[in-house]
Order: sequence, then structure tokens, then C-alpha cells
Amino acid sequence: MGYSEPIQKVIHEFSRLPGIGEKTAERLAFYLLAQSRDEGLTLAHAIRDLKEKVKSCSVCYNITEQDPCPICSDKKRDLNQVCVVEQMKDLWAIEKSGAFRGGYHVLHGTLAPIDGVGPEDLTIRKLIERVKQGGANEVILATNPTIEGDATAFFIRKAIDGFEVKVSRLARGISAGSSLEYANRTIVSDAFQGRREF
Ligand code: ZN
Repeated sequence: MGYSEPIQKVIHEFSRLPGIGEKTAERLAFYLLAQSRDEGLTLAHAIRDLKEKVKSCSVCYNITEQDPCPICSDKKRDLNQVCVVEQMKDLWAIEKSGAFRGGYHVLHGTLAPIDGVGPEDLTIRKLIERVKQGGANEVILATNPTIEGDATAFFIRKAIDGFEVKVSRLARGISAGSSLEYANRTIVSDAFQGRREF
């Protein structure tokens, strides 16, 4: 009856991953089983490295192998300009565009009350703390122009009201409902140049 325990365990773990159903999990488990010991363990080691070597930057919450991350330790950047993004992939989209040479703050999501995501589930408090301690002279809200992105930007705007900091929002070059991730270099650049006080 049923597979032996190690196989069941692997199937169970795979099936917990997003987008992987029971059938796929089973196929992956048998694929690994058929591989040589070394080939199979490569995946195990990659996962271990991911969990042991990669951490969150204590300044910007970017995922990094060193803390502070290379961006936050770059003396040539103006780290008092803090660009607030939803996800790491937004940070990388901006970096690729070369449009911005400041620092970041990665929220790791947006406020989504319907899905039960509140300020405590994101890194918003850390951002407020950073502003409070004088770690920013401009906060650029670069959350995406979606309902959640806008709501998150408004929440942050209110939360840092009263502190001595300029707050701006990226220009709407990035069309409503779209995201930074898919915008090209020029659009990202224009969005930064045309940013408005918020
Ligand atoms: Zn950092």
C-alpha cells in the first residue's frame, strides 16, 4: 500500500510548492529517484544554500548574501533617497534601467485587507523607523499603479506625514494596472524623472 516513506515525504514537500499538484509532485519525485546520487543531491544542496546563505538586508530588506546588501553598502549612491518597491523584481527592474542611484526599501508585498495582508505582514514599520531616524530625505513611492499598490502608497504617505522628508510618487508613465517589472528602460527612467510630490 502506497510508496515507501522517503518517497512519500518528497512527494508531500513538492506538492506544498505553489503551482505543483499531487501528480506533478509524484512525477518530480520519481524523476529524482531515477537520477544519480550526485545529480539528485545538487538540488538538495542548492536549497540548503538558498536558506543558509541568502538573508534579508537589515537596511532595505532586499535579499542578499551580505548584510548590508551591495546596494546599501555602495558609497557612490545617495542612500538618503529611498525608493519603496513592492518586490525584489521591481528593484531589479529599476536597477536594470539605470534610472536611479539611491537606496531602496522592499516591502515584500502590498496591503491587501481582503487577503488578510496588513502593515505588520510587510516591512512598513521598518520603513517608518528608517524615516524617523533621519535615514531618508526623500521617499519615492514606486509601488505599482494597481489598487493595492496605490492603497499601500497612501498608507505609507500618511504614516510618514509630519516627518521631515520629501515624499514623491512615480509618474504614471507606467500605465495603470501594469507593473514596473514589465516596463522598459525608458518608461522606468521617465517615471523617475517625472515623479511628483505625493
Ligand atoms: Zn540593502
